[in-house]
Amino acid sequence: MIKIYLAFLCPFILVFSCQNNNSTTDTNTKEESQIAKAPVEKTIKAYGFTLKHYEVVNDTVSKGDFFGSIMDKHGVTPREVYQITQSIPDTIFDFKRINVGKPYTILKNKDSLAKPYAFIYEHNKIDYTKVFLGDSIYAERAKKPVTIKTRTASGVINSSLSLTIDEAGLDYMLTNRLADIYQWTIDFFRIQKGDQFKIVFKEKYINDSIYAGLESVDAVVFIHENEPYYAFEYEVDSLTGRTEYFDENAKTLRRFFLKAPVQYSRISSRYSPRRFHPVQRRWKAHKGTDYAASRGTPIWSTADGVVIKSSYTRGNGNYVKIKHTNKYTTQYLHMTKRAVKVGQRVKQGEVIGYVGSTGLATGPHVCYRFWVHGRQVDPYKQDLPDAKPMPESIKSSYFEFISNLKTKLDQDFLEMETQVANSSS
Ligand SMILES: [Zn+2]
Repeated sequence: MIKIYLAFLCPFILVFSCQNNNSTTDTNTKEESQIAKAPVEKTIKAYGFTLKHYEVVNDTVSKGDFFGSIMDKHGVTPREVYQITQSIPDTIFDFKRINVGKPYTILKNKDSLAKPYAFIYEHNKIDYTKVFLGDSIYAERAKKPVTIKTRTASGVINSSLSLTIDEAGLDYMLTNRLADIYQWTIDFFRIQKGDQFKIVFKEKYINDSIYAGLESVDAVVFIHENEPYYAFEYEVDSLTGRTEYFDENAKTLRRFFLKAPVQYSRISSRYSPRRFHPVQRRWKAHKGTDYAASRGTPIWSTADGVVIKSSYTRGNGNYVKIKHTNKYTTQYLHMTKRAVKVGQRVKQGEVIGYVGSTGLATGPHVCYRFWVHGRQVDPYKQDLPDAKPMPESIKSSYFEFISNLKTKLDQDFLEMETQVANSSS
């Protein structure tokens, strides 16, 4: 049922994505100039070094390892280790923060002493730090060269979106991104069997081959109950590079408020005038909406605003209250940790705290409360305002930008329709 169309570096799409299609390159010019002078032959390079010049040790930080113990295994004395750690400020590389499971590489001189020349520590798939241990001791942070590839994928939903994404061998992050893009349009907990989607997205690769995560979701069509819902990512602020999703008529998919203060999570208790309180064991009004989420999940401000309370009470636990306009105020309870201060301005989607169970709570969740003109209400029963519309001045360039993307989505959608028709006959 699921057909994946791979369109690696499809020139058709690249025309419209050149500004995002850059690749970052290793900045170590010193080693590069060395290589330029070397005779032309096949050399293996890593982290900006030509490996054949060294004895290379690849390893992983094990439990109980620390920088000194690793160095000790390679013949560096405690006195030398002390000198190294004193020469490099924590802000450049913190030797105390070497984590179990992280890969590292040691390059040793190819002479009789075989002293380590460099220690390379990988922070993640892309970022690493090189610590030079030779005559001059210094460290520098660098990135592996990343290439961005554009892909196209489509699927037909049998049970859930996440399962379809998973079966197609796609990054699970795509589910979150789609749920985010369509939060006001499609309820992904209630999607129908037979709903279809088609996505144009970008992925990051290291050395052209190692997958390093999702870069962006550029265009989507989601066919829900036979109705197509388009979404195109477009830059609305050239200064900050902020993007937003719009439909085929340039209408924003965003609203003034996010649908929920946490990502793609289950409502565990709705707003109600009367419910049995699980902690206090008595009937009382529940003037909030509870979202179950695991401890530490980031909590977002649902709209732009100013923090008017960031505090702790016995009932609320750690909580934050935000004033958005003279009309609207929201509050977020039971945080394990607060991340904002009173008076601070926040943007829609900005992290204001983390899910916990402080105060009167049976388990980790966020209780989301909503006021209109000082009166507590159920936000899902309100007619809430739209987000700012797309400025007229950028509309014509937007339509130009999406025209080929839309043709691409529609073409493959027609193909999909034929497949569906065939398989059901
Ligand atoms: Zn609640």
